[in-house]
Amino acid sequence: MNTKKLGCINEAQLKHLKRELVTLLQQLQADLDAERLDQQEEKNQLSCTEVLDRAEASAVVGLQQTGLSHMTQLEEEIRECQNALSRVEAGQYGYCQSCAEEIELNRLMANPTAILCVACQSKEELRRKGGSL
Ligand SMILES: [Zn+2]
Repeated sequence: MNTKKLGCINEAQLKHLKRELVTLLQQLQADLDAERLDQQEEKNQLSCTEVLDRAEASAVVGLQQTGLSHMTQLEEEIRECQNALSRVEAGQYGYCQSCAEEIELNRLMANPTAILCVACQSKEELRRKGGSL
């Protein structure tokens, strides 16, 4: 029987999660680089094509906007990853930023960048959705 308290992270688990975070960060940065290149190519194409009819032009703008929001999302995820890694360094990783309780290990394994425990996360989601509480 495993008598260890649930949610308590040991050194091996922390190492594993740190590796996950580093891999995730590298992946996100590669995605962001690829996205930036795409955007640049689109811009180049746009400036090469001097005469665009209106429908075509707005299609291109639409594409760029989707690309931009994807980039913003990637940047956000990269920040979350970097935050998590700096908490690992500071020895604060795995604790809820709202109530300071330990975040469940299962939750961290599924989502290494989690900063809130399940209870605080659902409160946060309710607050965002409800608004009028
Ligand atoms: Zn909490």
